[in-house]
Amino acid sequence: MEVADKISLFKGECNTYYIDDKVKLLVDAGFDYQGKVDVILLTHGHEDHIKYLGAVMSRNPECQVFISLKEVELLNKNGVEVGKQFKGLYEGKTVIDTGKYKLEVIEVPAHTRGSVAFWDGGNKILFSGDTIFKDGIGRTDFPESVPDFMENAVTLLLGLDFELVLPGHGKHFKPEDIEEDKLTT
Ligand SMILES: [Zn+2]
Repeated sequence: MEVADKISLFKGECNTYYIDDKVKLLVDAGFDYQGKVDVILLTHGHEDHIKYLGAVMSRNPECQVFISLKEVELLNKNGVEVGKQFKGLYEGKTVIDTGKYKLEVIEVPAHTRGSVAFWDGGNKILFSGDTIFKDGIGRTDFPESVPDFMENAVTLLLGLDFELVLPGHGKHFKPEDIEEDKLTT
């Protein structure tokens, strides 16, 4: 399903988004996307978000995978070997340019310690991972969670300028759809 210009949603273990641009980019890998992929951006290392990472990488041996290096331990725990195709993501330093979209890294270490969101301020689009949903926030009861940061993470994301949020689960939404009273820790 097309959710924005050049961006399609594939429902799998998690919402997986494909940007069909000059750079072919996948946000998360909860769906076994069969087409060409140049870059994979991971919002975090939970199993449902990396379920098809190995499959997509094996069909696209040149692709680069970006994830916060704080997630390496979790990736290893989930059976992913972090080889040289993996690159770190750093807020304010990493911008992924697909052509139309310039995705900035927003670090939100709460749901997991290396969780990130991807934000394009020009196109006003936010990939929120498992930090905010339309009517709730991500779980913070995992060993890899940092529950104390969740309130800051929600405030940080809600303070960004966006017109569309593409979350890790559930339906995409606009700012006016957000049930803010349910986004509390
Ligand atoms: Zn998760």
